[in-house]
Amino acid sequence: MDKRPHLDITLCAPRGFCAGVDRAIQIVELALQKYGAPVYVRHAIVHNKYVVAGLEEKGAIFVEELDEIPETDAPVVFSAHGVPKSVPADAKARNMFYLDATCPLVSKVHVEATRHFEEGHEIVLIGHAGHPEVVGTMGQLPPGSVTLIETVHDVGGFEPKDPSTLAFVTQTTLSVDDTREIVEALRARFPLINGPHKEDICYATTNRQESIKAVAPTVEAMIVVGSPHSSNSQRLVEVAKRAGCKHAVLVDRASEIDWSIYGNIKSLGVSAGASAPESLVEEVIDAFAARYDVKVKTTTTAEENIAFNIPKVLRNLETAAGK
Ligand code: SF4
Repeated sequence: MDKRPHLDITLCAPRGFCAGVDRAIQIVELALQKYGAPVYVRHAIVHNKYVVAGLEEKGAIFVEELDEIPETDAPVVFSAHGVPKSVPADAKARNMFYLDATCPLVSKVHVEATRHFEEGHEIVLIGHAGHPEVVGTMGQLPPGSVTLIETVHDVGGFEPKDPSTLAFVTQTTLSVDDTREIVEALRARFPLINGPHKEDICYATTNRQESIKAVAPTVEAMIVVGSPHSSNSQRLVEVAKRAGCKHAVLVDRASEIDWSIYGNIKSLGVSAGASAPESLVEEVIDAFAARYDVKVKTTTTAEENIAFNIPKVLRNLETAAGK
């Protein structure tokens, strides 16, 4: 007789890879296929240790800055998070062959910020200091032209030069609820502020947060598969806790699970950040299946069918590979 305790696992859908992450990984893989190793990548292509390690094994070399790359004809890929304008400028100055894996939804925010700047707006960026996407978005414009706002508290202390010319843009991977509060606080203080209809949080971040909100109140514990540097994965843990699930944790993979948390629980929810591969979700489910008699179901709150084009120079390969 099966002595394992019963455990109901609810998988959140959508979860895991988004179109921007999928595209960025494809760009590195196709570049390796077309040009051979090494392919240099500036910054972790996406914030997942397992993805980075897998690409390193295939011949990708990860660096933080271009000056770590020797003189080379090898391609240099910019990560999905986007880069300040100075980075492609430096790459051109060094005659580097670069491929830009910036997610098109991040590029859209760059375009928005630039348009506001050209129209004479003073720009507020809602985001997290130091995150590469924030560094990239601020780096689209001259130093000093963008003010970073991280919290509602920051809004209270913000003194614009001219409140009638304000505009805001946001990081794509923020908490939908926190950002709504910050935008409301900005609109309350500066009614003339210009901005996107809602905010710039992307479809993937929004959908993953919605699905975890639906599942978290119905389970005793939640696991979000993702790496600690992944902004959207961290937000999923916060959203789960706020939705009423006390035991919500982020794990990179099954080997990191702290089994002391789970004991006799009867229900578990599982989601994954936009940079976490489905194989790691499967690994987590298998680890639970080895200890519990699991029954797995899926709660789907949205359907996704978005895909982004990869750079032209890699496109015939993509067709040849049947992708
Ligand atoms: Fe693009 Fe959103 Fe994915 Fe980031 S999380 S890569 S913005 S789709």
